[in-house]
Amino acid sequence: MNGTLSLVDAAEREWDAVVIGAGPAGCLAARGIAERNRSVLLVESKAFPRPKVCGGCLNENSLSTLREAGAMPYIDDLGPVPLTGFCLAAGGRNATLSLPGGVAVSRAAMDAALARAAVDSGAEFLPETTAAVGDVSEDCRSIRLESHGESRDVSARIVVAATGLSGRSLSRLEGFQSEEEADSRIGVEATISEFPAFYGPGVIFMAVASGGYVGLTRVEDGRLNVAAAVDAAAMRGAGGPAAACRQILEDVGFPYAKGMPEAEWRGTMKLTRRTARRAGERLFLVGDAAGYVEPFTGEGMAWALAGGSTVVPFVEKGLVDWRPDLAREWEQHYTRLIQNRQWMCRCLAQGLRRSWLVRTAVPALARMPWLARPIITRLNRDANKSRGESAAARLSTSSRIEAPH
Ligand SMILES: Cc1cc2nc3c(=O)[nH]c(=O)nc-3n(C[C@H](O)[C@H](O)[C@H](O)COP(=O)(O)OP(=O)(O)OC[C@H]3O[C@@H](n4cnc5c(N)ncnc54)[C@H](O)[C@@H]3O)c2cc1C
Repeated sequence: MNGTLSLVDAAEREWDAVVIGAGPAGCLAARGIAERNRSVLLVESKAFPRPKVCGGCLNENSLSTLREAGAMPYIDDLGPVPLTGFCLAAGGRNATLSLPGGVAVSRAAMDAALARAAVDSGAEFLPETTAAVGDVSEDCRSIRLESHGESRDVSARIVVAATGLSGRSLSRLEGFQSEEEADSRIGVEATISEFPAFYGPGVIFMAVASGGYVGLTRVEDGRLNVAAAVDAAAMRGAGGPAAACRQILEDVGFPYAKGMPEAEWRGTMKLTRRTARRAGERLFLVGDAAGYVEPFTGEGMAWALAGGSTVVPFVEKGLVDWRPDLAREWEQHYTRLIQNRQWMCRCLAQGLRRSWLVRTAVPALARMPWLARPIITRLNRDANKSRGESAAARLSTSSRIEAPH
């Protein structure tokens, strides 16, 4: 990819901003910062394209943020599968709900496309490099970069940590360690080529059972993405991710996909975690790095994209004149933009663990699908029309100062 740097080249420059992690949050942040004519380095530990544990479903909220960032053509080029429905199954019953407006796309293709969008806006990309945030001296933060056994320090006036669930980039900083919730599940994922025709394109098939839930969705290359949140104990008991998913699918009466045992499975650390701080001196956290709850209807990427795009005016303001209040303002903005919605997801995740509730709710939804509409509408609500965005807009307006370039 053009715009890909070497470690040595990256270390020779001073950066306005370093963004760590090229998931949706990091790519959108890097693109937005570069569009303001700031020098920005996007650092990613993996070689791209890389797979990621995820269902790959972008809801309306995500698409709206991508459109606003001008990044939607990059996704359209991949031929994403339009989503129309959500088939929820538990205890042998299922309900099909209308879920228009979203698309499904593999994370390998999508994240590579968003990294390209950042590079096309002027960001420099440094893949296969692990970053660790260091201390602040004068008006810069240091970042230690490591790649293939070599390490270099770079400095940036602002750092955006968009490292997902992994807290490694912040492990050297006091107060930034995230805490996982005791009964949190773990995520597993595989993409498979051999599966029953039952799993048609355009529908998110969601199987809910006591050991967790499995989402199955067709992606742009026709394959079936299987992504699940499962109890670690249930997975150990079953003998691995494929067997755990099979148990859940059989419990609800969904057909088992033959390709599952041979597939290459990936896993995550515990999913639900709280982060005590979401900002520090010359440092902002965005996306899953800022705290995470179990995903259910495609909110994770919506929050990551919303965080990545709305952190940009905060970065700009910090570049013009850093003051400690900015960290507090980002924390407040994040709470308004995302945390209040995570509360609803938390309730959904807890509700899904009560089998009596799920077994009552699914037949009720099958008869009266409109019952789900308020929840889906609320979760899908356009982030740009939420109160959080107006706070960012206010900040953006008040910080409209000419960049000193
Ligand atoms: C089972 C499951 C299913 C899901 N399904 C959906 C879904 O269908 N729809 C949806 O919207 N959300 C879904 N999610 C949630 C979604 O995957 C995340 O919320 C989203 O990926 C968060 O984006 P991010 O940019 O914050 O982090 P990530 O996408 O995790 O990206 C972080 C990046 O940072 C890199 N990195 C980490 N540490 C370092 C370091 N020290 N140095 C350099 N790079 C580093 C990583 O390699 C990675 O590329 C799902 C999650 C799970 C677990």
